[in-house]
Amino acid sequence: MYQNVNISPLVSADGTVNNVCIIIYDVTDIASNKKALEGANKELESLSRTDRLTMLNNRGYWEECLETEYNRLQRYDTTSSLVMFDIDHFKNVNDTYGHQAGDEVIRVISKLLRESLRKTDIAGRYGGEEFGIILGHTSADNAMIYCERLRKAIEDTTVVHDNIEITFTVSLGICEASKKLENYEEWLEKTDKALYMSKENGRNQTTLFDLATL
Ligand code: GH3
Ligand code: MG
Ligand code: MG
Repeated sequence: MYQNVNISPLVSADGTVNNVCIIIYDVTDIASNKKALEGANKELESLSRTDRLTMLNNRGYWEECLETEYNRLQRYDTTSSLVMFDIDHFKNVNDTYGHQAGDEVIRVISKLLRESLRKTDIAGRYGGEEFGIILGHTSADNAMIYCERLRKAIEDTTVVHDNIEITFTVSLGICEASKKLENYEEWLEKTDKALYMSKENGRNQTTLFDLATL
């Protein structure tokens, strides 16, 4: 039972207090409703940040995290790397095996991605078949090792749909944080440039953006 207690002194005619009046209210209904509401609000907040197909952060929330990370890096002497990746020729998967098979491929890749993360990494579904990862406290070299491990794990995975084995690959781009980047949007843009170089050079590979070109 949740209770509210009210204690008031009872003043006698000569001004002394020899007794108190204690009133106990049963506020269980109000308190339980408040707790349920707090729980529901937490659940709603989490739902509003989460992409339903992949259970990754959705684009809006992930971009907020990226902006926060960019701002944090302006204040501290540390680095982080940004990764964007996109499924190769994904339109073919949909066209050949159907949209549901395509959805399953997205789900499986997202699971591999989630399993690859450390506590300080933040991944999100940026677009239909494009993903972003903020690798906290990670240099470009270490980001490259991480990306190649993820790329190979995805390459080695198959999805079985209607008894047919589907294989798939991804192309990745990396850009390490730099004071030369004006804002988080530019950080994203340079990472995307690296990703498109991976596409142009034949897909199923990782490209590091060259900060010396800035
Ligand atoms: P590229 O290697 O250049 O990236 O080629 P691509 O075919 O992957 O790229 P394109 O942008 O031409 O096609 C992406 C396709 O992804 C088109 C769209 O229908 C599909 N797609 C986007 N979101 C989803 C989704 O949630 N589920 C499924 N099944 N398909 C999706
Ligand atoms: Mg694609
Ligand atoms: Mg795409």
